[in-house]
Parts: sequence; C-alpha cells; structure tokens
Amino acid sequence: MKYILAVDQGTTSTRAHIYDQNGECVSEYQLEFPQIYPVPGWVEHSPADIWSSVRAVISSSLSRVGLTASDIAAVGLTNQRETTIVWDRATGEPVYNAIVWQCRRTAEYCKKLVRDGFSERIYNKTGLVPDAYFSATKIKWILDNVEGARARAERGELIFGTVDAYLLWKLTGGASFCTDYTNAARTMLFNIHTLQWDEELLRLFDIPRGMLPEVKPSACNFGRIAEGELKGVPVCGVAGDQQAALFGQGCFSAGDIKNTYGTGCFLLMNTGEEPVKSENGLVTTLGATGGTRPSYVLEGSVFVGGAAVQWLRDGVKLIRSAKSSERAAIRAKSSGGVYVVPAFTGLGAPYWDGNARGTITGITRGTTREQIVRASLEGIAYQVHDVVKAMERDAGIKIACLSVDGGASANGFLMQFQADILRARVVRSRHGESTVLGAAFLAGIAAGLWDEAAVAKILKGGERKVFTPSMEEGERLALLAGWQKAVEKARL
Ligand code: ADP
Repeated sequence: MKYILAVDQGTTSTRAHIYDQNGECVSEYQLEFPQIYPVPGWVEHSPADIWSSVRAVISSSLSRVGLTASDIAAVGLTNQRETTIVWDRATGEPVYNAIVWQCRRTAEYCKKLVRDGFSERIYNKTGLVPDAYFSATKIKWILDNVEGARARAERGELIFGTVDAYLLWKLTGGASFCTDYTNAARTMLFNIHTLQWDEELLRLFDIPRGMLPEVKPSACNFGRIAEGELKGVPVCGVAGDQQAALFGQGCFSAGDIKNTYGTGCFLLMNTGEEPVKSENGLVTTLGATGGTRPSYVLEGSVFVGGAAVQWLRDGVKLIRSAKSSERAAIRAKSSGGVYVVPAFTGLGAPYWDGNARGTITGITRGTTREQIVRASLEGIAYQVHDVVKAMERDAGIKIACLSVDGGASANGFLMQFQADILRARVVRSRHGESTVLGAAFLAGIAAGLWDEAAVAKILKGGERKVFTPSMEEGERLALLAGWQKAVEKARL
C-alpha cells in the first residue's frame, strides 16, 4: 500500500493528512501558530514558525501511524494564498516577516493605482482588481522599506515566493525554486492569458524579474525532499487553498462550483479552458488540473459568512454555540419577515459597497430571538445566492449543483435553505477537508497513483449529503424580493 501525505499551510494553522491508495485518511495532525499584529490593520507571520509547523505536522502525522518515507509515494502542498516572503537565495534567511494576505499596509497605494487608471490594465492581464491582498504591492513594500533590500534584490541575492514556493525551497534544501499556476495567479504579476510573468507589471511595481520563481502546473514533480523523515520523497502537487478545495470537491468540468463556508465564504466556479471576463465584480483566476494546463476560474467572496454566527454567539449573545443556531432556526419555523444583512464590513461581490453596514429589517413586537438567529443564517445563504447569480450571468451557465465545505456547512438548516433559495442541489461530501484532500489528489495524480477518474470514484464512494430544493417558487421569489429591499436599506 502506498500513501500520499498532504500539507495544508493555512492562515492560522498548519495540518497534515495521510491518505491511503483508496483515498481514506489514515492520519491527521494540526498545529496552530502565532499571528503577529505589529500595528492595527497589519498582519504578519514568522517564516520560521511556518516552517517549523510544517515539519512538526509531517513528523506527527507519520509517527502516529508508524509510516516512513518508503511508504509515501508523494507529498502534496496547499497554502494560504498571496502571503509574501522575500529571502536570501544563499542563506535562506528571510529579510522580513511573511506579509499575510489580510494585511492592509499597501491599501493606500492600491487606491492610488485605481485613481491613476491602472485597474483595467491590471484586470486584463491578471484577472484581479488592484488590492492590497495580492502579493505585488507587498513585495514592493519590502523592497522599499527594508534597509538594503532593493539593492540586494537587484544584485540577484533576494528571491520572492508565496508560502508554497518558500516551503518547496525549504523542503528541497534550496534545490527547487518553483510555484504553481494557481499561486502565481494571485500575485498580480502573472499574466493569466500568456501564462508568463508580466514584464510591464514588474516595471510598474519595480520588482526585479530575477526574484520570481519558475511557474509549473499544479500536478507535476516539484523536486525531492532533501532531509528529515521524508528524505527522497517527491513533492508532486501544489495549489493555493481555494483552488485545492475546488479540485478536492471534484469540480473538474466547466460549470462546476464550490463554496467554502468559513469565517467568510469563498466561491469558485470552474469555467474550463476559457477565461470569463466578469461584468459583475468577480475576479478571474487560474484553477488546478491534473494536466499540464491550468483551467480558468471565476472567484467571488462573501466577507461575513460563519462570522455572522460568531456575532450571534459572542457579540449579541443570542446563542450559546455555533451549533445551536440550527436548532433555534428550525424552532422559529419562519423568519417572519425579518432580514439580517450581515454587512459588518461592507458588501463584496456583486455589490462592492464598502459603505454598506449590517442591517436588520422587518422587526415587529412579536419578533423572537429564534427568528433573528434564523434570519442571520438566511442572510449568509442570500449573500451566497447573489454571488452564484453573478457567476451564472458572467459565465452564461446555469448551475444545477453547489458543492460545499467549511465549518458552517455542518449546519443542515443553512444548507437546506441554500438549496431552496438557489433552486439547486447542495452537496456536502463526507470528506470534510476538501482543501488538503485536493492537494493530495494533485500529488497522487502526478505520482501516478490515481487518474482523474479514480479521484472521481473516491469522491463518489464517500457518503454525501444532498440537499434538494423543495421550496415553492412563489415563496422563493417573495423571499428574494424582500432580501433585495433589505440590501438596499443596508446600503443607505
Ligand atoms: P475558517 O477556516 O475561516 O476559520 P471554518 O471552516 O473553521 O472557518 O469555519 C468556522 C466558521 O463556521 C465560524 O465562523 C463558525 O461560526 C461557523 N460555524 C461552525 N459550525 C457552525 C454551525 N453548526 N452552524 C453555523 N455556523 C457554524
């Protein structure tokens, strides 16, 4: 029996899972690591913490089941996207902490890019809207603010990578300086049409070309691990976390779509071999495939997803636990005309209104705690509905099924309401961790353990929970009309 070990290096924790040839997870281990907040709005990680957490989860997941390098056919890697590390090519020493995707330190500079009219050029090349999330302005910040960094970068001494590239470099003892298409696509330096680093954008952000890693398909041999328990094992799969989740959900064909219900919601739709230009404020990016060319993907996010449930629990204290929100919602029977628009930090796609604020409408003397809880869960589902509709309009595809994962997808009421309001099936796979599973699939495919058909069979083999729409159409349309009115009020 051969196994695949997959590492998910996330924003707050790192995990490793080991899968056998049948796709069964035989071992898992997870570790949290420190978050660094130097000033409000800035977020950093120590690259040394990231690296030691990866080594620790690999060791622990192996030792729990007594497996060694000879049992592991390949390693897969998935990672928090956009987070930026610049390090010394000779010593491996980072010149600054990792600047995390959430960090807003370059937000003003990005606003200036928009004011100066760069949005369309950047979108046409990268599929992204200028934002501090993406790596380009973070690299520029390091070169401009760390003493001596720019001169060293120009001499070819410093290199840049997203977390995958940094970990590949560390794992292979500096032999491999590579990233994959899905991570490169989030830097705002990569042309998703030519599949090359873009010289014009490198000039715009004043970043030396020599700092950038080689870009490879997500499923291929990225090099062998140089030391430790897995010495000699090849790393064969790499993808950014959301794209790994899309792959791990088996969304291999155009029109396949997944949503991850975490703190926020991340929706990705595979649009196949052609990029789809968004008219509705979504970004266009690259998806992972088992082949040599990436697919194209439409991506949209909802800022407040499960965070609305955290607010119910910790903010207004209407529930004791996230889980109990389901019981309360069912007990309410209906939201009684109450809508909760959880626009705590503005509204994302398709509204893009930073000034919108959280709003509760339709309250009467008879409104109950349970109804507000129910309306909050419904508010998550309505926001997801709005992004799905934007994707359908952009792609010209009507979806029949939404694959789901993430913490809040455990909520059966929320999933049934989502199916009802979308008028589409919602499918929750038995495999809770689509992200790390996706990285394992990519590695297993490149290592020759599985092909896409075998992967599809593994996914079908698992127990899936399917939520089938059952709401009467008149009721659905009336609820959606009420939601639209509530959104208008949130935007005043
Ligand atoms: P992240 O990766 O963003 O930390 P997770 O996928 O771990 O998120 O999901 C955590 C989120 O899911 C939290 O915001 C929590 O409130 C929400 N959540 C967890 N369980 C439930 C539940 N049964 N019903 C509704 N929301 C839930």
